[in-house]
Amino acid sequence: MTKPLIVITGASSGFGAAMAASFNQQGYPLLLLARRTDRIAALPLDFSRIMVRGVDVTDQKALAAAIHEAEGVYGPVDLLVNNAGVMLLGNVMTQDPQQWRQMLDVNVLGVLNGTQIVLPGMVAREHGTIINISSLAGKKTFVNHAAYVASKFGVHGLSETIREEVSGKNVRIAMVAPGAAETELLGHTTDAGALSDYAAWKESMGGLTLDPKHVAEAVDFIYAMPQSVNVREIDIAATRQDS
Ligand code: NDP
Repeated sequence: MTKPLIVITGASSGFGAAMAASFNQQGYPLLLLARRTDRIAALPLDFSRIMVRGVDVTDQKALAAAIHEAEGVYGPVDLLVNNAGVMLLGNVMTQDPQQWRQMLDVNVLGVLNGTQIVLPGMVAREHGTIINISSLAGKKTFVNHAAYVASKFGVHGLSETIREEVSGKNVRIAMVAPGAAETELLGHTTDAGALSDYAAWKESMGGLTLDPKHVAEAVDFIYAMPQSVNVREIDIAATRQDS
């Protein structure tokens, strides 16, 4: 049997790139999305059944066009991983409001955009899975993370709401909520104080590191369950992470 199409947003680095590697090794056809397509093209993957498109997840039209193009080649999408995200740390008293908007646009509206594109087909087929990459910051607070926490609490809330709405149609909505990991995520923060606080926090926990491959394994685990079983949420963090 031919394996169905998997779509991964934010596939150019970090967790998304690790998921792409895992599903590629398992033989799934993939649509890999990010703005930096050169970074995806440089990943050590077998590109024979991979479509790569440069898409900003805040642009729903472009996202829909890419997904429909891939469906035309590989058939209906059976798994969408809404992974693209941005974390711009800062104190609410000083942070540029444009950074709040960017986080809410990408982390919340980007997830809704992707969901709205694939969900009607999944509901009609009574088959399909959406896995949203939230964060432990979607369940609890962290200093200097106010807008990021707001965005990830948003992901938790919308995921559980949509899960309830489509559960009767045999469609799975699930979440992975990782703790701090070694990716490029922190690299976009411009607030030097927030960066040094984060570095000191990590140092206090022995320089903790969660390898992205373990987040990819959590995604695999959710998807590999029978369609009748929904692992609704996996929280995963380095053992030494105290919060
Ligand atoms: P990275 O910065 O390594 O990856 C983020 C990915 O998102 C990149 O591929 C980037 O691609 C993509 N992206 C960002 N903005 C957009 C956009 N507007 N449109 C399309 N793609 C976009 O970080 P991670 O791998 O760590 O992040 C993945 C997810 O995991 C995020 O949702 C993040 O919030 C979450 N997370 C991360 C944690 C961590 O400590 N690393 C902990 C908990 C959750 P490009 O720039 O090429 O568009």
